[in-house]
Amino acid sequence: MVANIYFGSSEQSRESVGKRVNPYNGEVASEFVTCNADDAKKALNIALLASKEASKTTIAQRCSWLLDVASKLAQNKEDIAKTITDEVGKPITYSRIEVERCIETVTLAAETMRTMHGETVNTDAFASGKKTISFFSRVPCGVVVAITPFNFPLNLIAHKIAPALVAGNAVILKPTPEAPLTAYKFAKLFIESEFAIKDALSVVYGDADVGGTLVTSEIPRVISFTGSVGVGEIITKSAGIKKVSLELGGNAATFIDKSANLDLAAQRCAIGAFVNSGQVCISLQRIYVHKDIYSEFALKIAEATKKLVVGSPYEEDTFMGPLVNDEAAKRAMEWVQSAIKEGATPILEPRVEGRVFYPCVMADVKEDMAIVCQEVFAPIVSLIEVKDFDEALPMMNNSPYGLQFSIFTNDLNLTKRAINELDAGGIVINDMPTLRFDIQPYGGVKLSGVGREGPRFAIEEMSEIKSVIIC
Ligand code: NAD
Repeated sequence: MVANIYFGSSEQSRESVGKRVNPYNGEVASEFVTCNADDAKKALNIALLASKEASKTTIAQRCSWLLDVASKLAQNKEDIAKTITDEVGKPITYSRIEVERCIETVTLAAETMRTMHGETVNTDAFASGKKTISFFSRVPCGVVVAITPFNFPLNLIAHKIAPALVAGNAVILKPTPEAPLTAYKFAKLFIESEFAIKDALSVVYGDADVGGTLVTSEIPRVISFTGSVGVGEIITKSAGIKKVSLELGGNAATFIDKSANLDLAAQRCAIGAFVNSGQVCISLQRIYVHKDIYSEFALKIAEATKKLVVGSPYEEDTFMGPLVNDEAAKRAMEWVQSAIKEGATPILEPRVEGRVFYPCVMADVKEDMAIVCQEVFAPIVSLIEVKDFDEALPMMNNSPYGLQFSIFTNDLNLTKRAINELDAGGIVINDMPTLRFDIQPYGGVKLSGVGREGPRFAIEEMSEIKSVIIC
């Protein structure tokens, strides 16, 4: 099946197709129609017209649309999960989990929209005011551009297009080049729904050329981007005056206190560091461990890691499959080897077979090593021994990123300090920082981004407030 363009509701196939290679077995995973800047412009014009019609539809109609998509997703769960695994190498069990989460995200966007409302405003609250009937309500923005990354190629699309459409906008989706067919199959469910708003969703494929054309155009009122800091910076500089929401990279860390349940901490940290082969924006990368329990914890995390099943993403019990491409595997090995040269010690030896990079636990690291201070986006985690939380805190915060942190402790004071003093968009107590519930506000501070996702928060970002005064 070829991922065709959707110029609004009209599907277009062409002879010129690109190919996506399966990162595990090297076979062609999918084909997609190649797009250019003119295609992006065409989609923009269609979306502009569609946005006028979309804004006239009722919330009830838009909610029915999303709920229909959610139910069709459930019917197509196995096929879409398999497509995710083919395109990005995610283990099949985790691809199914991603589809299940996506069903919840879409459903939640519909349910949230039904209950979102404006407020009345007391214009006579100060002496300069007077009695009026004043209120504000939320109205659609117009056209939303959604640009998405490879690591959750389905659910991160849902986090953008479901809130945008249910809020009454028209949307152009430009998915990751690594998973075009996943995006196409998802979009097809929207476009072929009996409740669909005509032309409200378009899909174009490509990379910087197509994405750049969408971002710099004057037509969209919102750019909703999830991806790397580098591309986020380009978008910030080139978007002009429009809403830009950025979900960017991270360098998540945790502190293991001596009061923590060490078995739980070791098991959860192994999951948090290695799930999806470390290709998660809140992947656990740095573990700061209290000196009194450092050796015991190091043994426990090594044991927990050895139990993780690594290999074919098509096996039911596989926990970790390949990295997304050759460059990712090459970079991960280069960073680990350079850390070892500079004095780091592997507790579990780095090993790579094809694009499958085995989980790697490193000790004796320094703060300026790439595996510590940059986003690794690979299954590499560093253990750092510290005197106490006071020593760990500035080291944890010493990062240009601030997406999520966590702490394992049974000490209430430390819990309060972690919540107050760790500088991130989210703090987790007694679990890995690699924890996201789709209902939550989700996003980061510093270079990790601007704005929040989670259906309610995305709907707020993708609508305008209109203020009314009746004198
Ligand atoms: P990426 O930045 O390489 O690509 C993301 C998207 O941007 C792709 O669709 C790509 O085609 C597009 N793009 C590339 N150049 C562009 C340009 N000049 N203009 C417009 N669009 C352009 O990211 P990736 O490698 O797919 O994903 C990994 C990154 O995403 C990591 O840094 C990760 O931390 C981040 N991420 C963040 C979150 C979050 O919620 N904060 C979630 C997932 C991933």
